[in-house]
Amino acid sequence: MGVNQREPLLQVQDLSIDFHTAEGVVHAVNNLSFDLYPGDTLGIVGESGSGKSVSSLACMRLIPNPPGKIISGKILFHGQDILTLPENQMIRLRGNKISMIFQEPMTSLNPILTCGSQIAESLILHRGMKKKEAMAEAEKLMNDVGIANAKRRMHEYPHQMSGGMKQRVMIAMALACEPEILFCDEPTTALDVTIQAQILDLIRSLNKERGTAIVMITHDFGVVSEICERVLVMYTGRIFEEAPASVIFRDPKHPYTKGLIESIPQMSEERGALPMIEGTVPNPTEPVNGCSFSPRCVSAMPRCGKEDPCVMKLPDGRRVRCWLYEQQGEREGAAAVPKEEKS
Ligand code: SF4
Repeated sequence: MGVNQREPLLQVQDLSIDFHTAEGVVHAVNNLSFDLYPGDTLGIVGESGSGKSVSSLACMRLIPNPPGKIISGKILFHGQDILTLPENQMIRLRGNKISMIFQEPMTSLNPILTCGSQIAESLILHRGMKKKEAMAEAEKLMNDVGIANAKRRMHEYPHQMSGGMKQRVMIAMALACEPEILFCDEPTTALDVTIQAQILDLIRSLNKERGTAIVMITHDFGVVSEICERVLVMYTGRIFEEAPASVIFRDPKHPYTKGLIESIPQMSEERGALPMIEGTVPNPTEPVNGCSFSPRCVSAMPRCGKEDPCVMKLPDGRRVRCWLYEQQGEREGAAAVPKEEKS
């Protein structure tokens, strides 16, 4: 979407992903579409269960099958559909051109290898370096991500490092291959506030200095405000709103986006308890009729409980999935099929 003249790096087109669970089929992602351009900083925001992490795993082709299954759609990287690539080509792409860091670095770090040798392994595997050259480059990368005394610390094991330092090691590993896209899945959630700010600074500088496109997956609009130029708000596996970050903070349109933004703590104001969005995300195996946000929406109308809204494209280019904007926007695609009619 948009008027961007550059070629997109990544195009997610009409992506739908199901998970088959003991309780029933979960439609985790529904007809998701978005583009990512070189050097972009895109935030994907939503509560737990919104489909934001599943979407990013799909872009790395890391959805476990079973129980997950991509049931439709395309994910184009430089115009090539990665969903049809043979696994050996996907391995070369993953970690090399597209990398990811997670909330808990220990899930990705090997506890029995030193941090330096893990970064070096990436360089040997993806950039074909010899061991000596890879170790020297690993030290340089550790320096680049702000690990003091990198020469010494590269010989330490993950358990000898703090949470913030481990996350820096993960970022160094992700950068080892100079990826074009870095997915960051809640990378600072487990860290204290000061370290959080340092890691966000680091991610911002990677984007500015290396031109790496960043996709920040988060439940926290505060993190988005620090890093992102564009935001997708997701709920129940769908985009509810897409807009430039500067616009969405000033003038959120979707009732869900408004609720999320109102619940951000304001440093400058004395406030009582922060407003919360009442209710919880619906049980994904028990679909809601009509708009999936209707049980929680303060603006719900009788129609909302019956008809699922389609995305409205507003004159300023933003996209909003809400009946309140039917008069102002142009419908993007047909209204969604009510969930009980699916399969
Ligand atoms: Fe609320 Fe209706 Fe808009 Fe859904 S479609 S967000 S229920 S006003």
